[in-house]
Amino acid sequence: MHERTESDSRKLLRRLRDVLGTKAKGQERLDQITHLIADSMGTEVCSIYLFRDAETLELCATEGLKKEAVHQTRMKLGEGLVGRVARLGQPVNTADAPSEKGFRYMPETGEELYSSFLGVPIQRVGEKLGVLVCQSKEARAYSEDEIYALDVVAMVLAEMTELGAFQGDGPAMGVLHKQPVLFRGNSGQEGAAEGRVWLHEPRVVVTNPVADDPLTEIDRIREAVGVLRVSVDDLLAAESLDKDQKAVLEAYRMFAHSRGWLRRMEEDIQAGLSAEAAVEKEQSATRNRLEQVPDAYLRERLNDLDDLSNRLLRILTGQGKDTGATMPENPVLVARNIGPAELLEYGRKLKGVILQEGSVGSHAAIVARALSIPMVINAERITTEALNGDAILVDGDQGIAHLRPEETVARSFRDKIAMQAAAQKRYASLRDLPAISRDGVTISLHMNAGLMADLPSLEGSGAEGVGLFRTELQFLIRNKMPQRGELAVLYTRVLGAAKGRPVAFRTLDIGSDKVLPYMKPQDEPNPAMGWRAIRVGLDKPGVLRMQLQALLRAHNGRDMMVMFPFIAEFSEFQEARSHLLREIHRERSLGHPVPKTVQIGAMLETPSLAYAPDAFFKLVDFVSIGGNDLKQFFFAADRENERVRKRYDTLNASFLGFMALIVARCAPYDTKLSFCGEDAGRPIEALALAAMGLRTLSMRPASIGPVKALLRRVDLAAARAVIDRAIASGADTVRPALMEFLATQGE
Ligand code: PEP
Ligand code: MG
Repeated sequence: MHERTESDSRKLLRRLRDVLGTKAKGQERLDQITHLIADSMGTEVCSIYLFRDAETLELCATEGLKKEAVHQTRMKLGEGLVGRVARLGQPVNTADAPSEKGFRYMPETGEELYSSFLGVPIQRVGEKLGVLVCQSKEARAYSEDEIYALDVVAMVLAEMTELGAFQGDGPAMGVLHKQPVLFRGNSGQEGAAEGRVWLHEPRVVVTNPVADDPLTEIDRIREAVGVLRVSVDDLLAAESLDKDQKAVLEAYRMFAHSRGWLRRMEEDIQAGLSAEAAVEKEQSATRNRLEQVPDAYLRERLNDLDDLSNRLLRILTGQGKDTGATMPENPVLVARNIGPAELLEYGRKLKGVILQEGSVGSHAAIVARALSIPMVINAERITTEALNGDAILVDGDQGIAHLRPEETVARSFRDKIAMQAAAQKRYASLRDLPAISRDGVTISLHMNAGLMADLPSLEGSGAEGVGLFRTELQFLIRNKMPQRGELAVLYTRVLGAAKGRPVAFRTLDIGSDKVLPYMKPQDEPNPAMGWRAIRVGLDKPGVLRMQLQALLRAHNGRDMMVMFPFIAEFSEFQEARSHLLREIHRERSLGHPVPKTVQIGAMLETPSLAYAPDAFFKLVDFVSIGGNDLKQFFFAADRENERVRKRYDTLNASFLGFMALIVARCAPYDTKLSFCGEDAGRPIEALALAAMGLRTLSMRPASIGPVKALLRRVDLAAARAVIDRAIASGADTVRPALMEFLATQGE
């Protein structure tokens, strides 16, 4: 192998580009290319392996190995040296391949003759496409320069593959982004939908991976980086930045000004790549590192660099976010991640949302829930695989998505949607009927809300009112603290939309998973048990008082219900209550409008409050059980932690016993009691809660129908007897007994 020079490399890339320019078939092109590379690199063997499915590589062309092996030799991801290159996304370079760990001898190729091996991945921004390999008889390791040169070639091959230059027969040479792909993620919001992909960040298409004139390209990249730097500096100069946004932008600035980044891209250009391909080559390297670092902070920083590369590509190609594509009729949004405000902007027109990252407790998931849009999170690699307009099925119940599904899959999925729609129809017929059990007990069903967007559901769902209005969502979707006037207008609109039905406003519940973008984040070891909700409200009452004033004004002459979140002891309730009384007094003395009546409630979210003195239950107008938090503290199982959050059943005997205890604490004073955690919306759980004595349940609107349907067909006293018997028998959970009972209850 001879010493390579830059112009060698450029010459090779130019010849590659010429191959792309010919009218040849994909297979001919690949054959020519392996020949060209072997010749230029001075090695006996050059082979190209491409993926035939996500797990299997196939030898698609070779110079030097036996031709009979082409399209016959295959290996799994991670198998042999070629598989290792693909899995790691990094070169493997060895002088003595046969004695290398993991070497797999493939007799059909005749490769035992070759000692040295250099393999580099063919990949494009996070998408693995194949492996490019050089081998020679001479037992020598390849130099850094040679590895680099082959890496640059692989980058061009990746772009060519993406542009469809190697299409031919068989799956390995099939058209990319056409096969059905199943993504297994997690459920962000339940529900099923069929639609077409709409990419939040459209892909940048690079059509010119090779450039003849490095000087022009270097000018272009320098100019683009200059524009990028100015834009990041401008962003940083904006006044309304909070600390977090600033930290991200500072990291952007550091990368944008990093000499190493620009130098690496300039080297890539010197080797023959266009400015765009150079950006992508470095972006691919970043993505690879991203996959390998376990440290969350570092991953975030590498994510920043990835974002920055996208911006740079957009500057270079002039391709903005608006590609001119029109949004399909049933759009399913596909994004790496998305903020709550952006998601809200798309609003109800979305049929579904699929995120590559995200978490159950994220603000985007909260918004998807509020809008009842099925959502799948953690769908790895979806943004590199999906194209605008692709058919897609979203299964929010199971947390999976079928991209470009086979017709048989689509058909059975449609059956599922149809069944759900039929059930909804059945539920709709119950809309105006009460949730009255067979033995004549009426349960009041309310809905949970948090955005104006929720309110239209009030009418259709048959909810009697809003049992929980989470006011923090309005704070979360903004980038600065809302003003009292704005809030008063908003609350007035909510009450207007409720048309006289009761709305229980919960005061700001921030902290834990809900961090306001414009408030100083607290570095707490355990935020769920930290400075949150009413604790913040009482320690720094400014915002609480402002919010109470807005609520009072909005309730002008109406009946008001307000509740304080996360009350752990009596004195906290007393203090919060006196803030409210003080504000009523103040508003009245200022001549401002005040409500006709005020009911003041507390959310019971920590077990301690169930054991508060009698005086608490006497004073409080109503108690609402925040089951999501209460359950996590009752079982000491983090509601955000996938590993433990489903570990304990809500139908656990101790938990149901605890519900009965709370019912009994409220009863002597006729204190109204409701349950507004997610469990209220699960029919069997709702039934058990009703059986334990709860008479008001608040849930997401879509759950009202199913819950009502079940409550109407059971005898509550009988259900309670079944539960009591199961508890007495020593069972952990009463679920099996209750399910057996339900089977006897008929339709
Ligand atoms: C709860 O904890 O059950 C609750 C309703 O409040 P959130 O889910 O908003 O914490
Ligand atoms: Mg809560």
